[in-house]
Amino acid sequence: MDLSFDPNALDLSYHHFIGGRRIAPEGRGLPMRRPSDDQANGECPVAGAALVDEAVEVAQQALRSSGWGEVRPRERVRALQRWADLMEEEAPHLARLESVASTRPIAQIVEGDIAVTAEQIRFFAEFADKEGSDVVPTAGTSLGMTLSEPYGVVGAITPWNFPISMAGWKLGPALAAGNAVVLKPSEMTPFSTLFMAELALRAGIPAGLVNVVLGDGPTTGAAITGHPGIAKVSFTGSTAAGAAIMENIARTGVKPMTLELGGKSPQLVFADADLELAASAVARGILSNAGQACVAGSRLIVAEEVAEALAEAIARHMADIRPGPTWSGLTQYSPIISRRQIERIDDIVRRSVAAGAQCRTGGAALDREGYFYAPTLLSGVDQASPAVREEIFGPVLTMQTFREEEEAMALADHPTYGLAAGLFTRDLSRALRLSRALQAGTVWVNRYNRSRDHILPTGGYKSSGIGKDLGREAYRANRKSKSVLIDL
Ligand code: NAD
Repeated sequence: MDLSFDPNALDLSYHHFIGGRRIAPEGRGLPMRRPSDDQANGECPVAGAALVDEAVEVAQQALRSSGWGEVRPRERVRALQRWADLMEEEAPHLARLESVASTRPIAQIVEGDIAVTAEQIRFFAEFADKEGSDVVPTAGTSLGMTLSEPYGVVGAITPWNFPISMAGWKLGPALAAGNAVVLKPSEMTPFSTLFMAELALRAGIPAGLVNVVLGDGPTTGAAITGHPGIAKVSFTGSTAAGAAIMENIARTGVKPMTLELGGKSPQLVFADADLELAASAVARGILSNAGQACVAGSRLIVAEEVAEALAEAIARHMADIRPGPTWSGLTQYSPIISRRQIERIDDIVRRSVAAGAQCRTGGAALDREGYFYAPTLLSGVDQASPAVREEIFGPVLTMQTFREEEEAMALADHPTYGLAAGLFTRDLSRALRLSRALQAGTVWVNRYNRSRDHILPTGGYKSSGIGKDLGREAYRANRKSKSVLIDL
């Protein structure tokens, strides 16, 4: 089925969504542009502190009146399953709303992001009536329990790079665990999240449990994270914004937070690896969403004797990928989110070349409409090179070579980030040994990307984050625990 569509024929609506109703924006918004063709895309409304107050109050009231946290958990499971079903039924429209503003090609949204998000929502729903409180061993003259309870209203903030997936990661576990949510999507990609909230209402999730307020980080985001009625914060975005959120929370009152932040993930290829498999996985690891993924495998660290062969194979993959507007069903290669980001990528590449890097392929913006940057492979870099040090969030792969395993591990270790790592080898004992040694929240061996095993949590070591999304951990992170001791 050809999923292509005309972006100008799409009816976009600019509003907040609070208490199950669309709320018209007030005042000036933030101009949006379409990454695929650089055309204006309306203005994203900005919610001020008063509107965030209203959303939090509505959410608290909805929790009280619906009893969402106290109803028989199976009712939550059913409502969330209906929501996942509706997302699949409405996939073509939901995908268009995402595609028109973001970097996600329409076919990848339908086959990937929506299908996976619906599955993850069902996955989280199933915890609602299976995870809970415990009776714990205390003296025989007493009864000890740890009671598991929802937090109340969770404040969620998501980035622009995978808007549907990120909204699913936040809303799925928070709702399954019995909470209400006030969610702020990125000011660049608000449309799909708003529609997901409307679908939640249609699925029977009580009005006021899913509220979406639009706006930027410093105004709307800060009003959410600092709000006394927000019991827990769940954030995905850059390390800099994560640090600003920690500071704001510390200033306005202590509360738990989950932070999923940036990365600079290595992909290590040993001489005994299946080189064809490694070349394809390494290329996909950097080309997916044009490198605009937190887990982008942006640093290739390869055994000297196979480096040339691997570099050539990767360059072939880079040459083969088909760029195009996100609304074409044929597009494989994404645009970059903004003109500013294109300039930033180019600046890092140029500074790295000035510092000695060799550009083997790419190294410039593509000469076409919209914001596209050529898949880029830089060799001759060291640990001080800007392209090795900084999270670029673009399609730039650096290549460093090693002779000994120890040298490979030293290169893999990044001073700031520890989100993910890839390892390609046929030596099982090396794979196990290095999986333990790598300082990363996720290690993939002979593959590089997430699977549909939603039970595997994701999250960072070092400054790549605190806490986990996905897995049992994400559900538990949305519940608090109370100890009860009863003398008999
Ligand atoms: P960003 O940090 O600029 O923005 C993310 C979100 O935070 C947006 O909604 C933004 O409006 C909001 N925000 C910004 N400053 C804020 C503040 N002070 N208070 C509250 N909210 C604030 O990130 P981005 O450019 O949208 O996304 C790219 C970044 O996200 C990259 O660093 C990437 O690695 C990271 N990311 C991490 C993961 C993960 O799972 N670890 C997943 C996706 C993206």
